[in-house]
Amino acid sequence: MTNQGKEDIAIVGAGPVGALLAVMLARKGYKVDLFESRPDSRPDASARALYQGKSINLALSDRGWLALKAIGLDEEIRAQAIPMTCRMIHAIDGSLARQPYGRENQAIWSVSRAGINEQLITLAEQQAGVEVHFEHKLTGLDFNSGSCAFDAPGKGQERVDCRRGLIFGADGTFSKVRRLAQELPGQRISYSLDYMPQSYIELTIPASSDGSFLMEKNALHIWPRKNFMLIALPNPDGSFTCTLFMDLQGALSFESLDDEHKVSDFFRKYFPDAMPLLTDPVATFMAKAPSPLCLVHIDPWVIQEKVALIGDAAHAMVPFYGQGMNCGFEDCRVLSELVEQHQHHWPDILPAYQQARKENCDAIIELAKRNFVEMSDLAGDARFLLRKKIEAKFSEMHPELWIPLYSMVTFSPELPYAQALAVGEVQKEIMDEVMNLPDIEQNWQADCTYRLLYQLAQEKLTPNTLAKTVSNPLSPGPLNSLSQQKEVKA
Ligand code: FAD
Repeated sequence: MTNQGKEDIAIVGAGPVGALLAVMLARKGYKVDLFESRPDSRPDASARALYQGKSINLALSDRGWLALKAIGLDEEIRAQAIPMTCRMIHAIDGSLARQPYGRENQAIWSVSRAGINEQLITLAEQQAGVEVHFEHKLTGLDFNSGSCAFDAPGKGQERVDCRRGLIFGADGTFSKVRRLAQELPGQRISYSLDYMPQSYIELTIPASSDGSFLMEKNALHIWPRKNFMLIALPNPDGSFTCTLFMDLQGALSFESLDDEHKVSDFFRKYFPDAMPLLTDPVATFMAKAPSPLCLVHIDPWVIQEKVALIGDAAHAMVPFYGQGMNCGFEDCRVLSELVEQHQHHWPDILPAYQQARKENCDAIIELAKRNFVEMSDLAGDARFLLRKKIEAKFSEMHPELWIPLYSMVTFSPELPYAQALAVGEVQKEIMDEVMNLPDIEQNWQADCTYRLLYQLAQEKLTPNTLAKTVSNPLSPGPLNSLSQQKEVKA
């Protein structure tokens, strides 16, 4: 093995985070073995072809772009991504309201989850020193010796010796690496996996017969219905992938809608404009088992200086801020920077990695949980929308003083999540006071409103905190290139 005396690295899980980590570490001279339980999903095993198919999509934003830019894959991925500049709120009467995500040239981007994963695996395979092992399911791990056991179809149990190396658990929400760590005798591991009351199923709105979009393309569509909601993200082929989030149990829930009539009435009543566009919503609803949503907290992330968790394995969150993968990509970027900073000295890198990430990931887990209420309920609430309008106007007047919380999380990729959470809490206090001004509904544009906001912001938000919130190393970058995409203006 020729890796100039550096440790070998095994990564368990070739999801988006494991594959990105493999690329980053290989480029730093490490020999990396990437183990994945699934078979290779790429249509062409040599995998030069880019992913074309329809699939589950997700929202990629600036933290994700920053990590992808670090490995030079951002442009290739952006070529297939669709910018979503606003939320499009679908009221129950079918009326539409557009809520911009940020300033004019800011967007989140709809990308295919499988597509981005496959592109990252292909790039990983192209790196010297990386070997990808599909159909290798981790079943055992000796934390002392570093010996890993995998189930490999046709080969039975395979043992891989990582004695000289490090092991990363990038194996997702139900991480086997994490479970094995918890079983270690004598380890003090604090851990929780909380199931949310909501579960979800995916539905589809197909492209029209000429391949065009049946709804506004450059938007994330939301049908907020308080205790449940439907969302839709666009795909390059003209279709939308929709997700219905709803309680698993209760008066109106996946379990209570237990026959076709009830399901049909439900869609007709709550999603009258979406119902005729969806492909077989009733049959799909009846056929699909709802998937769970979980939050994972674990401490420590690093076990016996040899094994570390990353991505969802360390911090699974609910998808309501669109940050799970972005946050996992940020884990990789930060870790990669720490490798340089600590000159490849892992006994320093791993504790620094946990120190840098744990608090921030706890913060985004919390923010994501809170955002369900904002998306499913408040997005259709007039007072909440007024609050957002005032904040946006003030932010335009004083960008040095105020970046809305959503923008801090989504468009300020170097701002730690924990800081966004802390600043957001002070902003909430300030806005509560402003919203209590008499006749704010009529006077929201009045100078006195913004004078009060200015005074409170000066008093309560420290200049140091704010200076960091406005920096964005991606500008000019994907944000500016957005305005070059003709469809956005169309
Ligand atoms: P995973 O994607 O779970 O990958 C883990 C990999 O490990 C898998 O390939 C799995 O097969 C493999 N594996 C598991 N066990 C083993 C084993 N024993 N041995 C070997 N391999 C194993 N994030 C966003 O940023 N934006 C969004 O808009 C967004 N929307 C979402 C919507 C929904 C409905 C959900 C559920 C999630 C969403 N997310 C979103 C979150 C995002 O999908 C995850 O954060 C991201 O996939 C985490 O990547 P990962 O590589 O850490 O884990």
